[in-house]
Amino acid sequence: MPAQLLKGGPIAAAIKEQLGPQVQELRSQGVALALAAVQVGENPASAVYVRQQQKGCEEVGIAYHLHQLPADTDQPALAACLQRLNADPAVTGVILQLPLPGGVNPRPLQALIAPAKDVEGVSPANLGWLTYGTPRLAPCTALGVMELIASTGVDLYGKSVTVVGHSEIVGKPVALLLLDKFATVSICHVGTAERGELADYVRRGEILVVAVGKPAVVRGDWVRPGAIVVDVGINRVGEKIVGDVEFEPAAERAAFITPVPGGVGPLTVAMLLRNTVAAARLQQA
Ligand code: NAP
Repeated sequence: MPAQLLKGGPIAAAIKEQLGPQVQELRSQGVALALAAVQVGENPASAVYVRQQQKGCEEVGIAYHLHQLPADTDQPALAACLQRLNADPAVTGVILQLPLPGGVNPRPLQALIAPAKDVEGVSPANLGWLTYGTPRLAPCTALGVMELIASTGVDLYGKSVTVVGHSEIVGKPVALLLLDKFATVSICHVGTAERGELADYVRRGEILVVAVGKPAVVRGDWVRPGAIVVDVGINRVGEKIVGDVEFEPAAERAAFITPVPGGVGPLTVAMLLRNTVAAARLQQA
């Protein structure tokens, strides 16, 4: 395997080490950080993320409060819960765990989260700042992808980047962050795949970011030799967790590739913690 592994754990650990003293400093100024997460019903993927959030908060000294609501909680009740958290001065960060039960529309709820407490960067205001090229609190996974790419030392200026997947929490925000670095970004999605053009775009990418949620949606032999491959996907195949890129053949061609698990995941949590510190500062400003 010629590719170097882009492991998220060590980078996340270094970020958390820097955040600990910042949390302490804020506390000494009378600002106690507290993250409130709202979870509706049961979902295995969201339960894993909640545990990771809890652990990360403990590591850097941020209080974490999980508000578990029954699966039949309706839209007005959820809205009221978020508004209470917005108004509570003891709460410095708010997370609305997705997915929500069918029938509940996440959009108006995400739009309700106070922008300065929106540590996942999903409110229209924060997505707007991102679009302006002056991000305040940006989506955590997209920030994590940028940290991983930065760790390779690559200069993004003018580079050809292919992003596969255009979700609001990964594909779109990562494309905007890459554009801010003057990369040339192609964004692929189901329309690209249905025209049979995904391979062409992947082959072009000196940097490849894949966030789809389908194993082997990107074949290893499509990867451009020497590419940086960031695989965001998490898929359970039998007993194994795999990404969206066929790992072994991709690792034969790439210069850098993220393992799954152990690549993007740890960075997502580290970026959530970093956003929580940034949010507390925004609330002081
Ligand atoms: P999502 O909202 O379901 O978005 C998936 C995207 O993939 C959509 O833009 C979809 O396009 C596109 N797509 C579907 N089939 C495709 C195909 N055959 N070829 C190209 N594009 C295709 O998912 P997400 O929330 O971004 O998450 C993506 C994956 O990343 C999941 O496995 C998730 O578990 C994982 N994830 C990991 C982390 C982490 O911290 N490691 C964080 C977030 C997400 P259309 O909308 O046009 O169908």
